[in-house]
Amino acid sequence: MLSLDKYNKHKGERKQEKERLKQEKIKAKQKEKAQLSLTKQKPKTTQNYKGAIKVQKVKKKKKPTSNKKIKKQCMLLAKQIVYKRDKDICQHCKVPVSWSNRHASHVIPVSMDWRLALDPLNMKVLCYHCHLNWRHKHPIEAGERFTKTFPKRWEILKERYADWPKGSISITRLEEWFTFLQNYNEKC
Ligand SMILES: [Zn+2]
Repeated sequence: MLSLDKYNKHKGERKQEKERLKQEKIKAKQKEKAQLSLTKQKPKTTQNYKGAIKVQKVKKKKKPTSNKKIKKQCMLLAKQIVYKRDKDICQHCKVPVSWSNRHASHVIPVSMDWRLALDPLNMKVLCYHCHLNWRHKHPIEAGERFTKTFPKRWEILKERYADWPKGSISITRLEEWFTFLQNYNEKC
């Protein structure tokens, strides 16, 4: 039978061994990384038992997540602004909404133009029912209703995005937009 002292000693040794293995793994990884950067990620080749040379695929680097993160933050801010501005009232059937019944609906859909996805002027509060059964079933009617009821907003939107090319949004533009939304949110 193991005495407690012996057991604790074994435990300590096991812990040390674990730590040592961990450090070794980290070192090996660092070495691998350094070698990869030295070879500028040339594709590795391996030979199989028949002598055929196989080229290993080089793993693609993941894109930085900061872009995604800031988009998410902008979206949250934009929604907050829209809820405040529309006073939590469905802009179609005029029913007060809250929580899961409260949707921030895009006038110009995100799939059509990503640039307007984070703009509170392109969003309005709709209840769950109107969002699904009116906005998504009759998008043209919903769009026309918007341009008629809020012609000013529509004009601003058109002007705001005139010089902004469609497609990807740069991180600097996103950062600028984030501070703009923050100020806007504090004021309203
Ligand atoms: Zn509604």
